[in-house]
Amino acid sequence: MRLAILGGPGAGKGTQAERLSHALGIQWISTGDMLRQAIVAQTRLGEKVATRVKQGELVADEDMIELIRQRLLQPDVANGWLLDGYPRTAFQAEELDFLLDDLKQRLTVAIVLDVPDAVLVERSLARARADDTPEAIQRRIALFQERTIPLLEYYEMRDRLLRIDGAQAINRVHEDILKPLAAQAEGNSK
Ligand code: AMP
Repeated sequence: MRLAILGGPGAGKGTQAERLSHALGIQWISTGDMLRQAIVAQTRLGEKVATRVKQGELVADEDMIELIRQRLLQPDVANGWLLDGYPRTAFQAEELDFLLDDLKQRLTVAIVLDVPDAVLVERSLARARADDTPEAIQRRIALFQERTIPLLEYYEMRDRLLRIDGAQAINRVHEDILKPLAAQAEGNSK
């Protein structure tokens, strides 16, 4: 199974991605974690993106596309993956489809966690990561609305969007995601 999980900052992408990847036996790929690791390791990419990540700005599409391309070529993701935080722009979504065409793969479904802005702010502040300053949180919410919300239509039109109420309790959200995926897996095996 090949999945993407989308949602604003604090929507619960990481929490749900971790559980889902265990439940489905697929690799969890978090672009935010990959970037934070690159920053700590002071790689060339890390140095390039550090300021943008700290300020809650999006990293350039070209850098993200290359990062994902390299990651999806690794052998450990051959049996499936769950992209956490990617794609975030319409351009990234289109490029992901081109890349998957090349790899003869297909995105099973894009999951979006619907969470009201007030809850996003509350959860992000409670999490207190280094890039979770109040200014960066507001900026990430604004960017989610401007850049990521429009690409939901991209997946909806292709009948590949799974919309989930992400404001519910963690277990409930997990079950809501898993149920339609299990039904789909069942259907495919027949
Ligand atoms: P996250 O942990 O997913 O919230 O990502 C943390 C930060 O990494 C974001 O605020 C962006 O600066 C950057 N980032 C992660 N994924 C992407 C992406 N798909 N496109 C652009 N920037 C990204």
